[in-house]
Amino acid sequence: SMASPALLMRVVASAYSVAEKAATIVRSVMSAGDLGIVEKAGPNDLQTKADRLVQMSICASLARKFPKVTIIGEEDLPTDDVTEELIEDGHCEEILNKPCPAQYTGIKEEELVIWVDPLDGTKEYTEGLLDHVTVLIGIAYGGKAIAGVINQPYYNYEAGADAVLGRTIWGVLGIGAFGFQLTEAPAGKHIIVTTRSHSSTLVNECISALNPDTVIRVGGAGNKIIQLIEGKASAYVFASPGCKKWDTCAPEAILHAVGGKITDIRGNSFQYNKEVKHMNSAGVLATLRNYDYYASRIPNTVKQSLVP
Ligand code: AMP
Ligand code: MG
Ligand code: MG
Repeated sequence: SMASPALLMRVVASAYSVAEKAATIVRSVMSAGDLGIVEKAGPNDLQTKADRLVQMSICASLARKFPKVTIIGEEDLPTDDVTEELIEDGHCEEILNKPCPAQYTGIKEEELVIWVDPLDGTKEYTEGLLDHVTVLIGIAYGGKAIAGVINQPYYNYEAGADAVLGRTIWGVLGIGAFGFQLTEAPAGKHIIVTTRSHSSTLVNECISALNPDTVIRVGGAGNKIIQLIEGKASAYVFASPGCKKWDTCAPEAILHAVGGKITDIRGNSFQYNKEVKHMNSAGVLATLRNYDYYASRIPNTVKQSLVP
């Protein structure tokens, strides 16, 4: 008889369905028209009704199935008393049927940390730049991002009524990443993708030093990793604090699953154990290919301005 699937595969399979439920919430809050915007740290750090409902939906749904897993979400909200209609208990059968990489078959619930960004690109969501928005569920073990789900609720929203709206990308180290067409950026061109709403002098100084052919300014850490894996950009460069562990965990797992690399601006890898500081204080540098080219051109003055 078939052995029961490994915990990691059950968590990823559930996270897939939970992220699809999240996407329906993101779309329904927008169509209902009342975003319920709250400023957190300031006007560039927003929370909407969608961020709140999705956080409750994801965290409560995963906690019910995997009670001993540590779940850390961006929004500071209670997870008890979540209404039943926010709970998703389904899973993706295709993921459950994939063999778990040998090094992960023995993982126990207590050893997993799930980093949740219920809605990445909130600023852009409130401004109608809908395809910048993603839902991020990252799974860490031993301090490393090992699996992730990125849902893009408004993928294809400008492609006409016949196009399927929304998509779910998932990946596991040692298995690969699925739900998109892996594409390399044009060879010999330096296309940098960076923030559109959190720029600074240092952010721009760092980009200039890389002599880019093109600079793409879009919202969301999830969205920027999608730009890399679909060949739209060659490097994601953000020389600033601001991005947090829930922004990078799922994107990191997916990027690493296809042979890419993400670190802070100084070249240090991110840690995702439950005790870690949330802020990625030393920024982000990520590529699908040619990481060393970009890393070697970050000015020392920029590195020294960012303290991990
Ligand atoms: P961005 O590329 O500006 O969309 O940022 C990627 C992620 O980091 C998003 O979740 C942002 O909310 C977050 N982030 C980046 N910079 C800041 C900042 N200065 N304040 C608050 N959040 C930030
Ligand atoms: Mg975010
Ligand atoms: Mg968010």
